[in-house]
Amino acid sequence: MNDKKRPARQRDGDGIARWAAQHAAAPEPLPDRAPRRDDNGRPRSYHAPFSALLRRWGGTLLHHLLPGACALCGGDSDDALCPGCAAQFFGPAAAIARCQVCANPLNGHALPARHPTDAERPSPPATRPEEAAGVALLCGVCQAHLPAFDRTLVAADYAMPVDQLVLQLKFGHRLALAPLCARLLRDSVLSQPDFTLPALLCPVPLGPRRLAERGYNQALEIARPLASSLGIALHAQLAVRLRETAAQSSVAPDRRQQNIAGAFAVPDAALVAGRHIGVVDDVMTSGRTLNELAATLKRHGAARVSNLVFARTPPH
Ligand SMILES: [Zn+2]
Ligand SMILES: [Zn+2]
Repeated sequence: MNDKKRPARQRDGDGIARWAAQHAAAPEPLPDRAPRRDDNGRPRSYHAPFSALLRRWGGTLLHHLLPGACALCGGDSDDALCPGCAAQFFGPAAAIARCQVCANPLNGHALPARHPTDAERPSPPATRPEEAAGVALLCGVCQAHLPAFDRTLVAADYAMPVDQLVLQLKFGHRLALAPLCARLLRDSVLSQPDFTLPALLCPVPLGPRRLAERGYNQALEIARPLASSLGIALHAQLAVRLRETAAQSSVAPDRRQQNIAGAFAVPDAALVAGRHIGVVDDVMTSGRTLNELAATLKRHGAARVSNLVFARTPPH
């Protein structure tokens, strides 16, 4: 097509591309190649970011879906979380004392798993003397009845606004949030100096019907990047679900154990025997599902089971 017959906008577009290429090649733009100015004398913007325009027009919802926005507050961020949200909801400043076995907040009602000797007691007392003395703290529930799993590490409480990450991942098909959840969980795991990494990671399996409905297992989506960032092997089928179970959240508390009992199987016990298995999930609520899975893994010879869970529902 002859250039003169083209629409003016298209000719301008070609000019912009040419100018951009020349401008990029020459650090000091030559006067005749300087950006043209509009009627008000302002430099005409050739490179107005499309996302910036969309943000201005699209409102908060769209803002949250754009790259370059914090997944929690929607503010401008080069990272998936802006520094403010990362510090407020995750990391050392947000860390609270948790039961080492079930990860529930201790709220000052913890019992040490063993009593520290006087020599172990720090002097002067640290903020959390039991931690400084390396004593495992268990909540009253775990003291009364130890679950089948040995340890639970979480990145955060399952509460506003962190729960939105899980809800969007699980029900909003925002799979891009899985690596973020994995990174935050990895940071939490690595912040526990006394924690020995598992030999193998195992996502909590979904039943075939639930998997078909959702199209993916969010636990596996978190487990994949978690395994690679921790340098741990992952076995997606280490445990399988033998039968569909109703979502624990939809079952009355007194029926939850019955709902989940016998739900899991381990097809290849040789993979499990004598090993420390890390079970990965998105949310831990009552812990019954994780307890059932840990019990199943231990029946097949697992030496130790640790839960690596993105978010923990605080007790009511
Ligand atoms: Zn933010
Ligand atoms: Zn506990």
